[in-house]
Amino acid sequence: MNDFPETMLVHDQPNPWQAVVPPIVQTSLFTFKTVEEMEARVRGETTRPVYSRGDNPTVREFERKLATLEGADDARAFSSGMGAISAAILSVVKAGDKVVCVRHVYPDTYRFLEKLMTRLGVSAQYLDGSDTDALIDSLPGAKLLYLESPTSWTMETQDLPRIAKAARALGVVTIIDNSWATPIHQQPLTHGIDMVVHSASKYLSGHSDIVAGVVAGNSERMAAVNDLSYPYLGAKLSPMEGWLLLRGLRTLPMRMAWQWSSTRQLLARLQKHSAVSQVLHPWCQPGPGTACLKGYSSLFTLELAEGINMRTFCNQLQLFQLGVSWGGHESLVVPALVSRAQASGPNSQIDFGVTDRMVRLHVGFENAEDLWCDLTAALDAAGRPG
Ligand SMILES: *Cc1c(COP(=O)(O)O)cnc(C)c1O
Repeated sequence: MNDFPETMLVHDQPNPWQAVVPPIVQTSLFTFKTVEEMEARVRGETTRPVYSRGDNPTVREFERKLATLEGADDARAFSSGMGAISAAILSVVKAGDKVVCVRHVYPDTYRFLEKLMTRLGVSAQYLDGSDTDALIDSLPGAKLLYLESPTSWTMETQDLPRIAKAARALGVVTIIDNSWATPIHQQPLTHGIDMVVHSASKYLSGHSDIVAGVVAGNSERMAAVNDLSYPYLGAKLSPMEGWLLLRGLRTLPMRMAWQWSSTRQLLARLQKHSAVSQVLHPWCQPGPGTACLKGYSSLFTLELAEGINMRTFCNQLQLFQLGVSWGGHESLVVPALVSRAQASGPNSQIDFGVTDRMVRLHVGFENAEDLWCDLTAALDAAGRPG
């Protein structure tokens, strides 16, 4: 009965007050009545919480729900998506290991591998994620395969079942960033992927009010996270943010459906607009991993035609606000020319085919007709194609 996500997300663990909204357990530590009770906990004979850098009941409730959504044995919440990504990677690799990674991965994941992991003796190779054969050919000798489907900016998908099968056969651990699809639209563990990471700052929280992350996987992989990285990196989630995530998750299925309904209408019209030369979204450009998607989300990239002034277009938009991130209530735009200038050091996408004629759009909760008017007015103001 609780198998459908919308049902499961409404019902929480019972609490002593029968409060319909679970309390925020805002505490750093939990006390014991006797030394014996304390000893039993330390020996692992009980599982009650000790200290909130380990377990906190509010955060645990979020972790349980996310694990259920992903079909995972367990999950661990972090204070950011990067906290989750770094902890997941560090639970797998050691000095001398090789990582294979899709080349259009989230830019800070790329910089984490390039700037920090190389210093620790872990090398990385970047490949076109839509070239399944090339990815599989690169696996012998690798310890970790890091995926993101669809990828940041270019929205390329990966053939998860085929890649996961090949990786398993060679003992290569697989991690995927599932922030775009969310477990509502894609459950990578059911395709044989080992671990899922999320920026919970995006759709999972859904209201642009927190920064958070989460890792989910089977008990063996989660035991490695809990043993090797989670306690020592210290990037734990606060109880208040765990509570906001529980609140946000309740409406995740409805938000995803609403945002896709608007996005689909906009994509269909944008594809035919003379000022648009390319629309990058898995619905417009099916790839090797589209079969894994049960639905689509509301983040995509537009390439505008020669003759359209990119700055004027972005500056003229009223409802699409200029800002990084995505997944909340508000529509957003970010031009590639800003992303290029944004960070020092290596920048994965920009080096592989993201042009200054591109903008990334996020469609929020606003009415689709209002958003269409906003887009066409800004395109009209930005010049003529050609
Ligand atoms: C935003 C983002 C991240 C990083 O998450 P933070 O919560 O900002 O640390 C990771 N992956 C993807 C795909 C993202 O968009």
